[in-house]
Amino acid sequence: MGMYFSISGLIFITILSFDYFSRKRVSNIETIVYKYLLIDTFVLLLFDVLTAVLYKLGIDFNNLLYMFASKMVLVFIVLWLMIFSFYLKAISLFKKNQQSSLKSLFYTFFILFVFLIPFIIILPITFTKQDGNIVPNGWPVQISYITCILLFIYDIIVAFKYRKIITFQKLKPLLLLALLIVLDFLLQMFIPEAFLINFILALVVIIMYHTIENPDVKMIEQLNIARDQAERANNAKTEFLSNMSHEIRTPLNAIDGFSQLILEEKNIDTIKDEARDIMAASQNLLEIVNGILDISKIEANKLEIVNVEYEPAKVFDELVKLTKARIGDKPLEFNVNIAKDLPEYLNGDYVRLKQIAVNLLTNAVKYTKKGSITLNVDIVKKDNICRLIISVKDTGIGIKKENLDKIFTKFERLDLEKNITIEGTGLGLAITKKLVELMHGKIVVDSTYGKGSNFTVAIDQKIVNKVKTIKEVKEEKPTKQVNLKGKKVLIVDDNLINLKVAARLLLSYKIETEEVSSGFDCLKNIKDGKKYDMILMDDMMPKMSGVETFKKLQEIEGFDTPVIALTANAIAGMKENYLKEGFNDYISKPIDKKELERVLTTYLNAKK
Ligand code: ADP
Repeated sequence: MGMYFSISGLIFITILSFDYFSRKRVSNIETIVYKYLLIDTFVLLLFDVLTAVLYKLGIDFNNLLYMFASKMVLVFIVLWLMIFSFYLKAISLFKKNQQSSLKSLFYTFFILFVFLIPFIIILPITFTKQDGNIVPNGWPVQISYITCILLFIYDIIVAFKYRKIITFQKLKPLLLLALLIVLDFLLQMFIPEAFLINFILALVVIIMYHTIENPDVKMIEQLNIARDQAERANNAKTEFLSNMSHEIRTPLNAIDGFSQLILEEKNIDTIKDEARDIMAASQNLLEIVNGILDISKIEANKLEIVNVEYEPAKVFDELVKLTKARIGDKPLEFNVNIAKDLPEYLNGDYVRLKQIAVNLLTNAVKYTKKGSITLNVDIVKKDNICRLIISVKDTGIGIKKENLDKIFTKFERLDLEKNITIEGTGLGLAITKKLVELMHGKIVVDSTYGKGSNFTVAIDQKIVNKVKTIKEVKEEKPTKQVNLKGKKVLIVDDNLINLKVAARLLLSYKIETEEVSSGFDCLKNIKDGKKYDMILMDDMMPKMSGVETFKKLQEIEGFDTPVIALTANAIAGMKENYLKEGFNDYISKPIDKKELERVLTTYLNAKK
């Protein structure tokens, strides 16, 4: 009876193997282990059928081939259970992300197998006939059975230990194995020759084919995931562009509108007021662009944390002022509690620290209509480290639980239908989280939808022990306007407005300027023997770029004028690129007055 089951098992497994091996599939731990299980079952059934055929042919039990085939059946049963146990443990380890332990697991099973095989092969095996059945006896049988029982117990322990992470789907083969073995034992009580263990193993393998993550489905799934990712990236980009367009247009609208008003306005005070509004809008615009730059730097892993000594009290003071300005006439109460024992000096990247807090405070103001915003700064000191625990609490719109994970994703904005009027790019929190991570800190959010949110950041900063000098206590005096009378600067830019802005800024330092709108004109002037103390060079110009012009300038004999790249090309790593090209320095547009002054004083040899 057993023989017919084994033959049908062999037929099934052969068909399954053909199907399995003829298709290209994703190689993962499951498909690899399953492959070996399939091969093992095939060989096991082959030897099983061989013993049955030999017996039918009337071959003696002491026949060497018969004994060898019987022992091989035992070897492959043991191996089957080992592969199965390895599979069960391996998928558990994978689920727990502990793939590193996989190698040692494999070697344990391998060594156990290599250790057992000689005993099964060398020790003698005998056969007795009971009720017309051939029953194998001897050490090889005992060893094999004990090993199989132990492995089975091991499987049950693994299944129990990892019950929370192994899905029922994955446990099916084990449960089936246990059930079939019990059924087989019961069956054998009535039909003693129903020893069907090999057939059961084959059956489990056939069932397993459907429980391992269907490799074909998996391949399709992977393709789908890739397609979805591409689609999402594309959507995010489109959404980002439309967001950006809206974001950029808002301050531009103010700049454009107020500029027109200024042209028509005669009252100097009103003009000044409107110019201030233009400056505020430009600042807003710059913030947006800087946000984009930060994200691009973060993505290129180029954002660096620059640690310097600073006074935390000053930083928080500025934060409070800034937030008050942001709140404006919104009916919001602003509470501030700053730890009294805040160290006088800390060492860290206070610019980024401020950026983190500003982002959180700005969001609190943006997403709270009424009620209050509370800024708490607590500290925990240990040795020379001070942990700053900054929390920003609001009574605003709050965030739904299911959205809490999303808020730190770039370009992700929630409740858009509701928040359509609130300006935002969805970049703030993505940048904030990255910055906190770069500073080895932590950020957590606790929020109740409709009630409010609480963002808490913890960042360690080094304590600097020093006494405040009198000089430092003094209020910083506004810097004197630098006078660079007698110096001459050539400005090269294809954009006339940019030429005008740069020339006007330099004029306030009494610098004489000359403006040209192309690299060709710049080269011509130098070749004509005109002398300058410095050249400010735009890069993105038609026909001949700033870099090309710069290279041609270097070929001119005796040319030693400092050339500064003055460009709006400010994405990550650009400064380094321009310096690498040989430019003496780099200023980004829009021109920051302090930055301009630094460059002017450095290269025009003037003293403040
Ligand atoms: P945004 O520029 O849109 O403010 P952020 O990255 O700063 O971008 O925030 C992402 C999203 O998280 C916001 O669009 C908003 O839906 C939600 N969010 C952030 N802070 C708060 C807050 N304090 N209260 C409620 N929702 C918030």
